[in-house]
Amino acid sequence: RAKDAGRGCHVAFEHSLHQDAEERRKLELSLRHALERNELSLNYQPVVDAQSEDVVSFEALLRWISPEHGSISPAKFIPLAEETRLIVPIGEWVLREACKEAMRWPDHIKVAVNVSGEQLLGSHFASTVVSALSSSGLDPRRLEIEVTESIFLRDDVMARATLEEIIALGCSIALDDFGTGYSSLGYLRKLRFSTIKVDRSFVQGAAKGNVECLAIIRAVVAMASSLDMSTTAEGVENGLEAQLIRELGCKKIQGYHFGRPMAAEDVQCLFPIRAADCSLA
Ligand code: C2E
Ligand code: MG
Ligand code: MG
Ligand code: MG
Repeated sequence: RAKDAGRGCHVAFEHSLHQDAEERRKLELSLRHALERNELSLNYQPVVDAQSEDVVSFEALLRWISPEHGSISPAKFIPLAEETRLIVPIGEWVLREACKEAMRWPDHIKVAVNVSGEQLLGSHFASTVVSALSSSGLDPRRLEIEVTESIFLRDDVMARATLEEIIALGCSIALDDFGTGYSSLGYLRKLRFSTIKVDRSFVQGAAKGNVECLAIIRAVVAMASSLDMSTTAEGVENGLEAQLIRELGCKKIQGYHFGRPMAAEDVQCLFPIRAADCSLA
């Protein structure tokens, strides 16, 4: 009997594996056409100065609404886009679109764009940046590129060389999700990041009174400050968390408390002087 039950489990397990593979294949097929079918869009989430609460930048966040699958989370389709290298053309579109959109905002507001290892470590990434800047006319100082620690594990030499090229153009580099990967202090010394983004998990932990999370945020803020880098706390969801983060000395804050990711048109409406046709103007 036990043996029969075990076999039943085995069959069910194989069946679900098969379903997963089948679902993935369908998703991949749809993703291949998402760009040309205009199913991709960008949302923009504000990052505010921790003290003044003024918006200093917006992070561009990719959205995919598929007629077959509905709205799919980036947590699901970004890894798929990376595995299939579809992130290369998609990421190029993101970069161009974000630079173009930022031209509609006041000059002091930056735009941050997430870049995957597949893009950055592939050839010509710096020339893609040059092209996005020149076709939009965006001042390079207004573009920030967000990378995660994983790129240094994959190819430290190539990652640094490409990021140096981008810094030379006048753009800035942020280190995203800091503390969640295989953090090494070595590359903090070798590359001039403008900002270290403290991952949401530390912010949430600290807000719950977790002493390790508190200690880690304090240490990151102190280290960043002595290296002349700024810090952004990610995922701040309420006023109490914002207050704590401010006390811990983070320079900038991003999270639902100050603004959710929003459509490009809604960002334009925040700056009514530029958007004459906006209903708020
Ligand atoms: P990320 O770069 O760390 O972006 C921040 C994520 O946290 C976003 O998720 C954002 O919506 C979410 N978030 C912001 N504030 C809060 C908050 O207060 N609470 C909570 N619970 N979440 C908050 P999203 O948009 O789902 O994106 C997930 C990840 O997908 C991003 O993480 C980034 O790694 C990746 N991604 C998004 N757009 C792109 C893109 O254009 N290119 C690449 N390569 N990756 C992208
Ligand atoms: Mg990011
Ligand atoms: Mg992040
Ligand atoms: Mg993240």
